[in-house]
Amino acid sequence: EKRFKVETLSDTIELSGPEVQHMRVLRLKNGDEVHLFDGSGWEARARIEEMDTFTATLVVLEKFQNDLELPKPITLALALLKGDKLADVVRACTELGVSRFQLLKTQYADVPDLGDNKLVRLKRIAEEASKQSRRAVVPEVLSPITLKQLPSVTKGFVAHPHTQSTLLEHLTWDSEVWFATGPEGGFSAAEIELLQHKNFLPITLGKRILRAETAPIALLGALASTGV
Ligand code: SAM
Repeated sequence: EKRFKVETLSDTIELSGPEVQHMRVLRLKNGDEVHLFDGSGWEARARIEEMDTFTATLVVLEKFQNDLELPKPITLALALLKGDKLADVVRACTELGVSRFQLLKTQYADVPDLGDNKLVRLKRIAEEASKQSRRAVVPEVLSPITLKQLPSVTKGFVAHPHTQSTLLEHLTWDSEVWFATGPEGGFSAAEIELLQHKNFLPITLGKRILRAETAPIALLGALASTGV
C-alpha cells in the first residue's frame, strides 16, 4: 500500500524516519508516485523526487478531499476496558468510521485509569487502522474523563441492555453524533441517568448481552449496514 501519513500537505514534502523506511521496503524509487494523507481529510498524489537511505523529497501533483467519512462526525465515548480490548475496539471502530474516541472512567470498570504509554499506543493503532481502511482522517483518542466531565451533546446514544429504542429509528444525520458504551460491568443506573441528562438516548443492541468490546463494533456495524 503506497499511502503515507504526512504532517502537512505542502507543495514539496520532506520525509524521514519510518515512512522512508517503509518506502524502501516497498522498493519505491525516484519518479514513483505515492498517495499522501494528512489526517484531517486531505489527500494528495505525489511523486518521489529524491530518496536516500533516511530522507525523501516528494512533490505534490494533485490534492483532493477524501470522501470516505460518515455524513457527520461520530465520537465514541468508550469505557476503559481490561487488557488489549481497547486496542481491538479502536482498530475496528476506526475502520468503521469513528472520528474521535473519548475514553471514559466509569463506576463498574475493572480498570481505573490508563497510562500514557497505552494512550500513545491507541493513537498509533488509530493511525494504522485509518491508513489501512484508506480514510484520510485519523481519529483522535482523548485521555479518560469521568462521566461528569463529559459534555452535554446535541445527539447522543448510549448502548444499554434491556432497552427498547433502536439506533436506526432515532438517528438523523443533522448534527454530529455521540455514542457511549459501557465497561464489562455495564453502566450503573445513576450513570445512565446522568447520560440521559446529557442527551444520550439509551438504545438496544439486540436481546443478547454482548461483551463490552463487541458492543461498540455492533453499534457502528449497524451504521455501516446502511451504506453510509
Ligand atoms: N451486566 C451489564 C449490564 O446489564 O449493563 C452488562 C454489560 S455489557 C457486558 C457491556 C456494555 O456493552 C454495556 O454497558 C452496553 O453499553 C453494551 N451492551 C452489551 N449488550 C448490549 C445490548 N444487548 N444492548 C445494548 N447495549 C449492550
